[in-house]
Parts: sequence; structure tokens; C-alpha cells
Amino acid sequence: MMGGKGNRCPPEMKALVYTGPGQMELSQWEKPVRGEGEVLVKVKAVGICGSDVEGYLGKTGRRIPPMIMGHEFSGEVAEVGGRSKFRVGDRVVVQPKLYCGSCSYCQMGFSNICPHGQFLGVMSRNGAMAEYVSVGEQYVFGFGENTTYVEASMVEPLAVAHRAVSKLGTAIDEAKYLLVVGAGTIGLLVLQILRKQGARSVIVSDLSEYRLEKARELGADYAINPGRKNLKAAISEITSDKMVDYSFEAVGLNPTAVDSLEGLRIGGTAVWIGNAQKMIEIDMQQIVTTELTVKGTYIYTDEDYVQCLNLIEEKAVSLEPLISVQTELDNGPEVFRQLAENKDGRLLKAILMP
Ligand SMILES: [Zn+2]
Ligand SMILES: [Zn+2]
Repeated sequence: MMGGKGNRCPPEMKALVYTGPGQMELSQWEKPVRGEGEVLVKVKAVGICGSDVEGYLGKTGRRIPPMIMGHEFSGEVAEVGGRSKFRVGDRVVVQPKLYCGSCSYCQMGFSNICPHGQFLGVMSRNGAMAEYVSVGEQYVFGFGENTTYVEASMVEPLAVAHRAVSKLGTAIDEAKYLLVVGAGTIGLLVLQILRKQGARSVIVSDLSEYRLEKARELGADYAINPGRKNLKAAISEITSDKMVDYSFEAVGLNPTAVDSLEGLRIGGTAVWIGNAQKMIEIDMQQIVTTELTVKGTYIYTDEDYVQCLNLIEEKAVSLEPLISVQTELDNGPEVFRQLAENKDGRLLKAILMP
């Protein structure tokens, strides 16, 4: 399997390759060779992230072609080293933020922000939209047979939502009203975690009626379309002018960042998860004069991953309503095209199966 020296044809695998803005091709790619301390994973399910779609459109500069995307995935162990805790055939997920573990960020518990690591499927580091990925064993976590590969692949977005909610700690218990701006995959997962933690009234806003309906199904008390109704006025009405204690921004654009502040009460906190637009314009005076707090939250740590894998194994969150497409890797180019259009927001998570 190692492909001896001088071998002109190393083993190949099938991969979905991003070759330039708006271009995704199914092609043959060199199969990764398992390195020391690594596990070779045969990918079974890989979700397409909003950031992958933005990258595909060439908007962010965070996908450098030619490369293989894919960071939300699960698979089966295909090859391990002699001392591995895993065995061939084990069902696993991979935490895709490959942190160093020894820098000052990692030491402070911010392995999510480690500047020395790589991120699978981002920039030029190849990810999981392929048959195989080889990755350090420390980033690999096993799960049981009662959880499907598709369900397990959802651990990544769930971990994003989990970290965001954990930023508020027990403050959620006292909150009377919470707002989730954006009912995409992350927003709907934030909603579910809030519900699970016993949050009282949760208001969700989105421009898509389809997504608002999903939010209602998944436990939102109120669902508002700011394209049809002034959000601030609607929240004021719902809360009898009290406004919300906490908000979550799960889109990453200027108007939604503004919305996440507009709905807050005096002294309220907005947690910003969305990561799309770089520069935005917001009302600084509003933040100063009503003593608002804005907290950023970025991806997850291993801890979030482990806890979320447990939540999935316990069936504590409802994932099926979030999965719009489940198809073979071969259909990847078409699925990316559809996601790039997605005008009425009917497509939530799409999952490819190599
Ligand atoms: Zn993602
Ligand atoms: Zn580090």
C-alpha cells in the first residue's frame, strides 16, 4: 500500500476537486499515504458547509485551487499504526482543526484559534470530499453503531452551535427572551441546544419562510421574517418592550449583525458566530450607550466535539429535518451548483457520500 520509491503510478482515489471559481470536478487524485501517528479514514459522509459554497464561488480566498474541500465528515478506519487505539473498521469522526497543542493559545484552551495548525479542507489543505483522508490520531473520535455516518457527520456544525451557546454559560437560565438571527443549519442547531438547556422564549429571524417553518418545527416560540416586518418592532411587541437578553448571529453579514444588536435590551449580549463578510458597519454609539456586549465564537475545541458526539448518540438533537440532500460524491458538482443558487433557502445541509 505504501507505493515503493520510483513507482510512477501511486495509488489513486476518487475526489471532488475545486479547480477555480464556480468549478468543481470529479477526478482521480493521489491517495493519501498514512503517516506516523496517523489514521487513514475511508470517508463515508461529508457535509457541505456554507463556507465551502462561498469558497466555491471564489468569494473568500480561503480555498486555493486545485484542492479538495470537506471538513464535516465521518468515516471508517481503513489503516492504523501498530500502537493505535483504533482498529480497522471503527466508526469515527475527525475534528478538522488540526491544532499544535503546545503554543500559548492551545495552552490557554484556545486550540480552536491555534495559529500553527491547519484546517482540513480549507486553504490548500485537502479535506474529505474524497475517498480517503489521513489524519493524526489525536483528532479522531469513535462512535457506536446506533449512529449513522450521516448523523455523525453533523457533529461539526453542532459543535459550532454548542460552543456559541456555551459562551453564555448559565446566563441562559435567567434569560426571558433569546434571539437567533438566521435559520440555516447553525441557527437551527443553536435553537435546539437552547431548547435542550431549558431556554424560555426563543425568537428566530430569517428571510426564508421555508426556514422559519423549520424553526417553528424545531421549537422556536416566534419566527419573524425581517423582510416583511420590522424586526425591532416585532421583538418589541413580543417582549412587551423588554427586548431580548441574548442574541446569536448565525449568518455573518452586515444586516444580520445589525439585527443581532437591534433586538437586545440594555446591557444585553450578542454572540457572533457567522463568518462571511469581513468589514461591516454598525452603530457604535448603540453599543456604548446601552452597554451591549459582543462576543465572538469560533468553531470548537475537542471538548465541544466530544460533547456533541454524545448528544448525537443520545439522539438529543433532531438532525434529519436539517438534511436536505444526501447523495453520492459523484453528484458533488451539481449539488454545489444548486447550493450556490438556493434562492428561497430551501436547501439546508447537503451531505455527500463517497
Ligand atoms: Zn463548516
Ligand atoms: Zn497551538
